[in-house]
Amino acid sequence: MATVLDIAKRNPNAAPVAVSNAARAAGFIEKTAELTVAAGAAPGGASLVGLTRDQLKDSLAAIGVPERELKMRVAQLWHWIYFRGAKDFAEMTNMGKELRAKLSQAYTLARPQVVSEQVSKDGTRKWLIRMASTGPLDKGAEIECVYIPEVDRGTLCVSSQVGCTLTCSFCHTGTQRLVRNLTSAEIVAQLIVARDAIGDWPGATPPEGAFVPNDGGRFVSNIVFMGMGEPLYNTDNVVAAIDVMSDGEGLTLSRRRITVSTSGVVPQMERLGAEANTMLAISLHAVRDELRDELVPINRKYDIKQLLDACRAYPGLSNARRITFEYVMLKGVNDSDADARTLVQLLKGIPAKINLIPFNPWPGSKYECSDWERIERFSEIVYRAGYASPVRTPRGRDILAACGQLKSETEKLRARARMMAEQGIGAEGVYAVRDGE
Ligand code: SF4
Repeated sequence: MATVLDIAKRNPNAAPVAVSNAARAAGFIEKTAELTVAAGAAPGGASLVGLTRDQLKDSLAAIGVPERELKMRVAQLWHWIYFRGAKDFAEMTNMGKELRAKLSQAYTLARPQVVSEQVSKDGTRKWLIRMASTGPLDKGAEIECVYIPEVDRGTLCVSSQVGCTLTCSFCHTGTQRLVRNLTSAEIVAQLIVARDAIGDWPGATPPEGAFVPNDGGRFVSNIVFMGMGEPLYNTDNVVAAIDVMSDGEGLTLSRRRITVSTSGVVPQMERLGAEANTMLAISLHAVRDELRDELVPINRKYDIKQLLDACRAYPGLSNARRITFEYVMLKGVNDSDADARTLVQLLKGIPAKINLIPFNPWPGSKYECSDWERIERFSEIVYRAGYASPVRTPRGRDILAACGQLKSETEKLRARARMMAEQGIGAEGVYAVRDGE
């Protein structure tokens, strides 16, 4: 029998409303999760996909696999799930029939549901993914995941929370309510979903016409935690997910190709470096506390000086392992020559790259993207000071690939479809749904 885990609990302190601009202006920094999920909990349903070695061991023990066999059986499952991408226990031919039957009675290898897939003209793919319900209060959380292929690498941008704890004023996800943290399995499952969709398993092939790297490596070669959520408000699950993703006998992603981006949760940064040993990115976006307090309100808790001190102390920092500072270019807000000069002064002594991001406007946002000449001028000042300062090429603009946008668009379209259905108007073609709704 499949075990159904009721791990979602309604959070009595939840603020179950999206954050209004007025609330932001009043200094609202953090939201409370509507649902809480027990730390280290397995995901909803009974899928083994995404579990850690310890969780797999517990799952096997629960169906009566003897203690002396557990290590070997975990290694077998690990290989099939994470190296081969198995979708059916029947594929696991080095396990006896009896064990396979027991496994399929108790568990599945189900992936989270892909609600929609959008493919940009530039090859960027964006999935809206619905996680299995974690209990009666949870209808199945929806998150976004974006795949950005280039000739020599494929980057997957994953989410760490449903919504986000924080309220950064330039970010669309910041306007959405925080539902809950994702479990480590749900974070790993985003990589599994991506590998399924682009044929990134041994013996699989990409879909007809798909743009994937052609350097002979894996199609997903890099992970960035830059989707929905603040990863360092979910550090336990993020660190556990990185352990699974980087395991040399399974998904084998190099930790140096995994980047965790934080808005500046200073107390968690050292732990991330020590335990996950990944690359670090900082959503800086402003060089003065007064402005950063507004753009990235967590700055009111941990100001620029505290943040940069924590960067200097980041374990493993070196010229080969630079910190990436993300800087969104907002017209007339943070894009002056003086801002650029202050930026390079602030970062003195920190091995760093500066990633300039043209702002991708979303409906209702109060900012505009800086003019191209301004971005070039800013980049020039930073470059002359000795910092690599690539301007991030906007990807997937035709599919609203900035974080949080697909979810909101889909919610809007659903509301429209519901309204049309109520009025007896056919809703076909309103939005693309892949796997049923
Ligand atoms: S920028 Fe990141 S931390 Fe800030 S609201 Fe958006 S998702 Fe959250």
